[in-house]
Amino acid sequence: MMIAGRPLQVVRRLPRTTPPFPDEVVLSYLSRLGQINSFPDGLLMSLWITENDRQTALISTLSGYRIPVLQCALPELRLKSPQMMGPSWYTHAPCYRCAARRAPGQSVNAWHRRRVRLCPIHWVWMGNSRYPLLTGRRPDIHAAYRRHRRLEARFGRQATETAFTAASNIVTKWAEMNVLVLPSSEDLPAAPATGTASPREKWATRASAHQYPATVALTALLADPAWTEQALAARTWDQLRPTFAHLVSVSYNPEGMSDPLHRWRRDARDQQYFSVP
Ligand SMILES: [Zn+2]
Repeated sequence: MMIAGRPLQVVRRLPRTTPPFPDEVVLSYLSRLGQINSFPDGLLMSLWITENDRQTALISTLSGYRIPVLQCALPELRLKSPQMMGPSWYTHAPCYRCAARRAPGQSVNAWHRRRVRLCPIHWVWMGNSRYPLLTGRRPDIHAAYRRHRRLEARFGRQATETAFTAASNIVTKWAEMNVLVLPSSEDLPAAPATGTASPREKWATRASAHQYPATVALTALLADPAWTEQALAARTWDQLRPTFAHLVSVSYNPEGMSDPLHRWRRDARDQQYFSVP
């Protein structure tokens, strides 16, 4: 075949091929195809085009995989245009053990519907691809992961994601204020695939994994319209405190504009007020 717009470039099947990784980014797959055929860096990636029918036909010819197989594996090819991948999609390196099994020796970039990077097969927290953590000794993290999925099923993916973002900010702030109740030990050993993450990145990755169960527990409240309605209507936190008391120290009660939960309520009220037609 010839690439439209580049009539002098004749494309044929590459000498060596490799299967796409599930939900792989098109550029990642082109890069890996180029790598296993010993092409110069970026040569195949320069063939990336924005019109998906032609892109799909091109990759099918290069890789030898049928179009339905590629559309199943590469989410961008299921859309009319790669630009349509919405903000609810995230790209990042998948679990290092999944990548080692399916694409040995190669780096992979894949699309994910969630920001949380936990491989439930290998029990690996991929908060930072250069600093994966092993979560095998933290069943609470896996229970939280399953609960997170159930919240998505109950309240919808977008509403849960919005609540999770707000909960992450609140929990992080509570941890800084030293009022967040956390397990006494992290028990999150670094995986052998550790790369060159900075101390700050390592600290942030550990904190997000360690605080994940508390974050999901708070997400369950913030995503629940009944709880939110109560929280916005209540004059004080006294009535609602039993619902999140297990997350914070005994003496803690949200108050003042420096408190993250208090700020969340103010912002939610403002949003409610300004959204009234
Ligand atoms: Zn994995």
